[in-house]
Amino acid sequence: GFLDFRTKARALALKAIPPDEIIWVEPKAVTETTLSMFSSGAFDTGGASKATPLNKNSKVLPVSQVSVSPEFLRLAEAVAHSNAAGKWTLLYRLLWRLTYENKRLLEVITDDDVKAALDIQKKIKREVHKIHAFVRFERVEDTSTPSGERYVAWMKTDHPCLQLAAPFFMRRFGDRPFTILTPFECAHWDLEKLTYSEGSPVAPDRGESVDELWKSYYKSSFNPARLNISMMKKEMPVRYWDALPEADIIRDLILEAPERLKKMAKNQNVRAEPPETTDLAELKKAATGCTACPLYKTGTHMVFGEGSKTSRIMVIGEQPGDTEDLEGKPFRGPAGKVFDRVLNDLGLDREALYVTNAVKHFKWKHTDIPNPSSPTGKTRLHQRASGAEMHACKPWLEKEIDAIKPDVIVCLGATAAQAIFGKVCKISDYKGKLVTDLPWAPNVLVSYHPSAILRAPDKNEAREMEENMRNVLALAHELSKKH
Ligand code: SF4
Repeated sequence: GFLDFRTKARALALKAIPPDEIIWVEPKAVTETTLSMFSSGAFDTGGASKATPLNKNSKVLPVSQVSVSPEFLRLAEAVAHSNAAGKWTLLYRLLWRLTYENKRLLEVITDDDVKAALDIQKKIKREVHKIHAFVRFERVEDTSTPSGERYVAWMKTDHPCLQLAAPFFMRRFGDRPFTILTPFECAHWDLEKLTYSEGSPVAPDRGESVDELWKSYYKSSFNPARLNISMMKKEMPVRYWDALPEADIIRDLILEAPERLKKMAKNQNVRAEPPETTDLAELKKAATGCTACPLYKTGTHMVFGEGSKTSRIMVIGEQPGDTEDLEGKPFRGPAGKVFDRVLNDLGLDREALYVTNAVKHFKWKHTDIPNPSSPTGKTRLHQRASGAEMHACKPWLEKEIDAIKPDVIVCLGATAAQAIFGKVCKISDYKGKLVTDLPWAPNVLVSYHPSAILRAPDKNEAREMEENMRNVLALAHELSKKH
């Protein structure tokens, strides 16, 4: 629709057809894949050219003179995807006035046309945000897709702006076919193309199991500390509730919030309590029974550090991953292979180092991706430990440092750096820097975690990150020889 408008409005403006000589016609229905905003033949340039007489002062402009700013294009795109009556008339009038009256018209925010368009743009931005925030997908069987499934969501929207919102889902869930249904239009992603079709006025039946899944997800992610009821109502207007399975548990969660808040405040300060020893075997045994944070419930093994008790270098990673959790040992699996490759390049023996993690249990969440070797049968997706979990686990790391008394600590990844520096750290801020004023060790170095190297967007970046890790470990080795 918007593209049609652009083409036709530009042709009209070129021919200097004034706004009051044009009647814009809305389409009767949205057609498959092409959302024409004009009924067939109702408005073409041929017809427009006959719309004489022209305004006395009008003149036909050369093509290059009907050009508009990106700001107007953004505004026009939002207005075009609104449900506002007379939107095409408003847009053409703005285009006309920008072309023939004042090129800087959009700066006059008190102008009635500009103000009306900006108000609509604001509404559309909010609507797009709502779609991003509240769309809930249900998995259904679909034999036409390679995986035999499709993710379907329905949402009651107030404006036909799904085309502005749907590309976000394509970027996020691009590896899965999905369909988003709204009363105005539907978006379909088939892993190659995003297409649009006519709207669906009512919600399709939704499976109860999916509702339950969302409720439990919402319950686990609901944070009573951030409870602001008026904001919730503003963010989640009642008209969206039809699409939200969790809506019927919100009341209960609000009632439970004060009690949960008290519990959370207590948990924020919970710290593991290691025994008074520097014997690593005893510490490991004690940590196996640790329940200081909730991660012990979901982790298969507590993964303590391992390596030489006399090592001068201590390498600290983030937390165990899927393989480490199953094997009960740090730096295994694909990330462990990257680490071993770097050590091998440097001629360093892993057994001669002490290798551990800042957090000792694996934090993960379910995905639907099958993985027969996983205890759940599904791939477990790594989740970053929270500040409270890192805080709870820190005493185990302190004890390990106390037992090893390393000359050099190498933090691999931001979580490890945060544990040692006591503040949120960006790897780029510490890359290549030797820090000598921390209480934990005379020398502290920071580099990338091997799993971040595996996730690098391209081979060049991965190579550079691995090179940095190699340099940092080589420097750690040199420094350890001086002590
Ligand atoms: S992650 Fe650390 S603090 Fe939490 S239960 Fe495991 S060992 Fe204890």
